[in-house]
Formats: sequence, structure tokens, C-alpha cells
Amino acid sequence: MKKVAVIGFGAASIGFIKGIMENGKIENMKVDIYERGKNIETSGFGGLKYDGKIFVSKNMGGDLEIPEKIQRDVVNFFLEKAELAKKINGKYEYDENIEHGNSFEDDDLYKTFYNKGFEPIKSEFYHIGTDILVDTVNRIYEEFSKHENINFIFDSNIKKVERNDQLIKVYNKDEIKEYDDIVIAVGRSGHKLVKHIIDDNPELILSNNKVDLGIRFELPDHIVQELNDKMYEFKIKLKTKTGYTVRTFCNNPSGEVTVEKYDDFVTVNGHANSKNKTKNTNFAILVTHSFTEPFNDPVGYGTYISKLSNILAGGNKVILQTYEDFKKSKRTKKIGRVEPTLNQNNYILGDLNLVFPRKTVESIIDFMETLNEIVPGITYSDNLLYGVEVKFYGNKVNTDYFNNVRIIGDCSGWTRSITYATCHGVIEANKI
Ligand SMILES: Cc1cc2nc3c(=O)[nH]c(=O)nc-3n(C[C@H](O)[C@H](O)[C@H](O)COP(=O)(O)OP(=O)(O)OC[C@H]3O[C@@H](n4cnc5c(N)ncnc54)[C@H](O)[C@@H]3O)c2cc1C
Repeated sequence: MKKVAVIGFGAASIGFIKGIMENGKIENMKVDIYERGKNIETSGFGGLKYDGKIFVSKNMGGDLEIPEKIQRDVVNFFLEKAELAKKINGKYEYDENIEHGNSFEDDDLYKTFYNKGFEPIKSEFYHIGTDILVDTVNRIYEEFSKHENINFIFDSNIKKVERNDQLIKVYNKDEIKEYDDIVIAVGRSGHKLVKHIIDDNPELILSNNKVDLGIRFELPDHIVQELNDKMYEFKIKLKTKTGYTVRTFCNNPSGEVTVEKYDDFVTVNGHANSKNKTKNTNFAILVTHSFTEPFNDPVGYGTYISKLSNILAGGNKVILQTYEDFKKSKRTKKIGRVEPTLNQNNYILGDLNLVFPRKTVESIIDFMETLNEIVPGITYSDNLLYGVEVKFYGNKVNTDYFNNVRIIGDCSGWTRSITYATCHGVIEANKI
């Protein structure tokens, strides 16, 4: 029996376990899954806790080449566990109420965006919703934990692993256990463990120079109703006047703005429930910052800017500003017609120009003004901007460097979505 340790129970490890169960390798393995959450309810982070938008796309969600068949299989797996799809006579049938869309399937819409200089990104979306997602993850956990060769060990924040003569040691509190293979699937929130592995093996890093910084934008549903109805999620990119590329991310029709808590700072994010709808849509507008040598710390840069917004907000809060004030670089003192969906305790009215570098601000404004030419109302003076939203790419690691250490999902730097992280797990399950 091969002894395998999986660190973290998120999307990537779900893909890995699903993979070894389907290809039968599990029968010759003993798998210990270490998760730092105290139990299945408190474990997990990000997309497996909020929103649960899953998709099939070649152009987003990560930098791996993942065949459409594997993506579709992963999407159907989650939808089946969410009880939103059923396999009948070998074919999937979807719940009629499922929120679903095909971005830029409409050719006229595609051309309208294209002709203004945008890159419209095609994808097929399904929205599980925060409320249903919790039950979905529970069902997956229950199915996996029934297998006699799988053992979940919760409340285990693994800080150290060591590779020694083809054996791997996992340090969990006072206990040290040895394994033949290890799968590191700790997501973005587990970057400290990956850093520790990289510090011991610096040649693992392939690239490390990018961070996406920007804002969460909120406006009334009716302004973007047509886009929401036709696509649910609309993803576009634009090379702005500054030379920086700006993109939209994570559109939430009738959704809510939330804060994302890191160890020592907070940023913004957004999600939508399948029920409890609001009257506002929110999405991220992110500016990609790529730096050249000697820069080598994109996480440090993103963290610094995020902390700056918290300092200005007087603590663990984010800054909220109206679009007009953002353009004029004036602190917002009063909001207009758009009611913020973020809880008042989490923001301070302020000026994001004191946080972002000038080029970042100019890129955001150029993007919004260009978008307004297609979607009138985007630049209404009282639409809301929350900052900072940040997407860390993390160090891109060489996943083939060791034959018995697999770094998968977002912590590998190769994925940034549920679908891609889960698919990465499935692919590695076939290689082990
Ligand atoms: C607020 C938010 C909303 C999002 N919404 C979406 C969405 O709608 N659709 C989408 O595709 N993507 C979304 N994402 C991104 C998505 O969550 C991630 O891309 C995906 O979950 C990555 O999977 P992963 O397995 O790599 O990491 P994760 O799913 O983050 O899993 C990592 C797991 O490892 C555990 N862990 C971390 N460190 C340790 C350690 N040292 N020891 C033991 N356990 C550890 C964590 O507790 C966690 O359970 C969202 C992210 C955020 C933050």
C-alpha cells in the first residue's frame, strides 16, 4: 500500500480524490487528508465557501491546458453533488432553475465589445450559490470519508514537510508521519507552507512577477440587466491607455459585496446567493501589474497596497467611494442612490486615490469610460467602488520537479478557479 498525504481539503484535493477513486488507484493507497479547519463546516476558503460559480472555458481560470471533456466532467460532478443536475441514461439533465449562461454566445454582443477594443472571453457558466454550496461540499466530504482507505485529519495546520531519501515527513503538531507521496493543495490561503517548500528548493519557481489589483464595483442591476440576462457572467479585457491590461472578474447579479479576511489585512470580494437577492450587481475591475527585475515579491506588493487601504480606513476595514469622487480624487462624504450591500461596519467612506498608484487609477478610469460607451450608466456619478480587491497569482512552480511531491491548485500558481483547481487534481491523480 502506498502511503499518501494530501494537505488541504479544497477544490484541488477534491479533484485529486475524485480522480484516484475513479481510476481505481485508491485501492492500493492509504490516504491521509490534513485540513487546518476544525471540521468540514469550518474548513475551506474562497470559492468553496462563497458563490460557487463554475464554468467550462479555455480562456480563463488558470494557465493550464485542460481538455474540455475534463472540465465538463468536473462541472457536472459539482452540479450533481449540488443536486442541480442528474445523470439520466448516461446524459446530464439540469435543474430548470439553475443560473446558467454562455458568455458572448450572442454574436452581436461579441462584436460590439470587440469593436471597442475589448477582448470578450467565452465561457459556459453555472452558478451554485453560497447557500447550496455548503451542502454540496458536505456531500462530497461524506462520500469520500466513507471510503476505508481515506482518513480525514482536521484541525491540522501543517507548517512543515520534509523530503528525505524518497520519503516525505509531515509535521503535524507533535506528531511526525512518513509518506511515499505528498500532495500539497493548500490554495492561496496556504501560501506559507508553499513558501517554506520553495525556500528549501528555490529552483522550483518558474515565474513570480504578477499581481492583479483593483476595485469591486457596485451598481443597480437595471444598468447591466441585459448583460446579466444574456450571460450571467461577463468577462472582458482591455489594454488601456496606460499600457496596463484591465479585466472584469466575478460578476454577481443581485449579489452582495463582502470582505475577504487575511491574517493581518482585509480586502473586498463579492458573491451571490441562489435566493436572498439584492437589487445591485457587483463585479471586480482588476488591473494586472507585471514588474521586471529586481522585483520578486508580487504578494508583498499586493499585501502592502491592501494594508494601506486598511490603515486609511482606520483598521480592518475597506474604503468605499463614489465614481465621481474617485475621478476627482475627492474623499466621498455622502453616497447617492446606490445602497451599499457591504455591511456598514466593514467600510469607511474615503479616497482610493490615496491607496493606488496613479497608473492604476488611470487604467481603471479608462476601462470604465470605454465600457460606458457600450453600457450607458457604468459611469453614473453615484455608482460605488470598494477597494482594495487583490488577486495574488502566487509563485508559479514547476509541478514536475519532484516525482513524489505534487503541488496542485491555486498554491501552484497555475490555477485560480474551482474548475481549474479541481481539474488539476484530477490530472495529477492520473499521473501518480
Ligand atoms: C471570496 C472568494 C470567492 C470565490 N469565488 C469563486 C467562484 O465563484 N468560482 C471560482 O471558480 N473560483 C472562485 N474563487 C477562487 C476559488 O476559491 C479557488 O480558485 C479554488 O478554491 C482553489 O482551490 P484550491 O484547492 O487550490 O484551494 P482552496 O479551495 O482554497 O483549498 C485549500 C484548503 O487548504 C487548507 N489549508 C491551507 N493551508 C493549510 C495548511 N498549512 N495545512 C492544512 N490545510 C491547509 C484550507 O483551509 C483550504 O481548505 C473565489 C475565491 C474567493 C476568495
